[in-house]
Amino acid sequence: MSQKNERIFLSSPHMSGKEQKYIQEAFDLNWIAPLGNNVDGLEQELANYNSIEDAAVVTSGTAAIHLALRLLDVGTEDTVFCSSLTFVASANPILYQGATPVLIDSEMETWNMSPVALERALQEAKENGNLPKAVIVVHLYGQSAKMDELVAICDAYGVPIVEDAAESLGSTYKGKMSGTFGKLGIFSFNGNKIITTSGGGALVSDDVEILKKARFLATQARDPAVHYQHSEIGYNYRMSNIVAGVGRGQLEVLDMRVEQRRAVFNRYYEAFAKVPGIIFQPELEDTMSNRWLTALAIDPKATGVSRDEIIERLAEDNIEARPVWKPMHLQPLFDGVAYYPHEEGKSVSDELFAYGICLPSGSNITVEQQELVIAVINELLNK
Ligand SMILES: *Cc1c(COP(=O)(O)O)cnc(C)c1O
Repeated sequence: MSQKNERIFLSSPHMSGKEQKYIQEAFDLNWIAPLGNNVDGLEQELANYNSIEDAAVVTSGTAAIHLALRLLDVGTEDTVFCSSLTFVASANPILYQGATPVLIDSEMETWNMSPVALERALQEAKENGNLPKAVIVVHLYGQSAKMDELVAICDAYGVPIVEDAAESLGSTYKGKMSGTFGKLGIFSFNGNKIITTSGGGALVSDDVEILKKARFLATQARDPAVHYQHSEIGYNYRMSNIVAGVGRGQLEVLDMRVEQRRAVFNRYYEAFAKVPGIIFQPELEDTMSNRWLTALAIDPKATGVSRDEIIERLAEDNIEARPVWKPMHLQPLFDGVAYYPHEEGKSVSDELFAYGICLPSGSNITVEQQELVIAVINELLNK
C-alpha cells in the first residue's frame, strides 16, 4: 500500500536538543544508576516549576500512583474512588493494592470528575461507614477538574485527594499548577505525554516527609543497616539518572510545548467550532489547559458523520486519531464495580465516549499536516 504522506501521530516525542548535554554529564560522572545529579536536579527543577515543596521521580506515572496509594495506607479492606473517564493506569494501582475501586462520572464543563456524583458517593459511603482511603482525581487531556468544589467536598469528609496530573503538566487552575492541590500529585513522562523521558513519572507534594517515604519504598524499602534488612514491601521504582537527564532537557522547553499544543488546539477550534453538532472540551473559566490532546465530541445526528467514520477515514490517509478514553465502568476489568453517574440515569462519560475523538495534537505537528487533517474531516462534514 502506498502512502501519500508520512504518518501523522496523535502525540509523538518532541526532543528539545538540550537532553544530550545532561546525558553526557551522567556518562562523564559515571552516574548511570537510579541516583545521581540528574535525578536530584530533575526533582528540584520539577518542584520549582510547580511551586511545590518536593518531587520524587520514578519509573512511570503508574508507579507514582501505586506509591501514592501505598503512602496513604490503602489495603485490601479499603475502597478508593477514581474518575471513570480516564486511562486504565489511573485505576490499576487500586487493584495492585487489592482494594475496591468506586468509579465516579464526569461533568460537561471540564469532562472531569463530577462534584455532584462525588458528593452522592461520599454521602452513601459515610452512611455505610465505608469512606474511601483516597479519591483519585484525573485532569483529562490537560484540563483541570473543578478543584475548588472537589477539594471542599473531600475536606468535608476528611478524605485525601491524589491528583492524576499525568496529562496536565504545565496546566493551571486559578493560577496554581495542576497536580499541586491534593495530598499527593502525580505526573507522567511517558512517550506520548507533553514532555517525555521515554518512560517515567513523578510524585509531588508539600509534605516533604511523605516523599522521603516514597523514595524509601521506591528503592526496595531498605532499612538503615549495612546488611540489607527489610521490614516492609518495597519496589524498584526509582528513575535512572540517564532518563532523568532526558527529563531535564525536556522540562526546559515545557512552557514552549504548552504554547505549541495550545496553538494546535486553536487551529482545530477555528476550523470546527462553528459546525453544529461539534463541541470541544471546554476550558473552564480561570483555568489554563496545556491542551495535551485536542478532544471534541461529534454528534452524528447533527453533523451527518460519526466519530468512527472520521477515525477510519483519517487512518486511510495515515493519520492517527482515537476515541476519547473508554470509561473504566465500561471496561470488562471493572465489571460489577460501583459507579456513580453525574445524575441518576444520566452518565456523562458514556456520552463523551460515544461521541468523543482526539485529533493529532503533538507539539511537532506541522501546519501543513494539520491542514491535511482538517481538510479530510471537512470533506466528510460537507458530504
Ligand atoms: C499516561 C497516563 C498515566 C500513566 O502514566 P505512565 O507513565 O504511562 O505509567 C496515568 N494516568 C493517565 C490519565 C495517563 O494519561
